[in-house]
Amino acid sequence: MYDSNDSNIVTKGPANHKKSVILTFDDGPSRVLPDILDILKSENVPAMFFWQSRLLFPKRPWKRVLDEGHIIGTHTVKHPNLVRLTYEKQYQELSNSVTKIEDVTGQPIKYFRPPFGQYNADTLKAAEQLQLTPVLWRVAAIDWELKEEPEQIITNVTDYLEDGAVILLHELRQTLDVLPDLIKTIKAEGYGFTQL
Ligand SMILES: [Zn+2]
Repeated sequence: MYDSNDSNIVTKGPANHKKSVILTFDDGPSRVLPDILDILKSENVPAMFFWQSRLLFPKRPWKRVLDEGHIIGTHTVKHPNLVRLTYEKQYQELSNSVTKIEDVTGQPIKYFRPPFGQYNADTLKAAEQLQLTPVLWRVAAIDWELKEEPEQIITNVTDYLEDGAVILLHELRQTLDVLPDLIKTIKAEGYGFTQL
């Protein structure tokens, strides 16, 4: 559980009539993206994707992501730990990634997730300059460590469900494999799905 009192960053969505959570997928666009989109579509779940712009090859299905109602945010160009960079370098990472994604998709980028969840005052300043809202998470699935035990991904999420929680997932094979069960379990707990 990510517990932050920093009012500059977002870990929860707006209050809704129905209790709901926000699924977010980092580190794409990856090879498993089309399959993730198929599952989200069949379950009628909107999500948010935070992309490394260096991975946004022309053939990645960015148009499908937008057409199917998902939101694309930036996760920088190549995933540096921003707190180790100067303000200028941080600004460049954000600005260059936004420019690349916007050039490809034609859609404005409004949301930003710092790699490793690491940020400092310079990060917030750069984000503000670029009118990007930093988004962290409330619940981390730790899916990147669970290639051998993907079922644990579901437990890591469902044990900490709460209304409005932003849930951190990744565009990984093991995450794809459990995604249908994860969504069904969240629905069975009485939650819907929303976005920022
Ligand atoms: Zn990442």
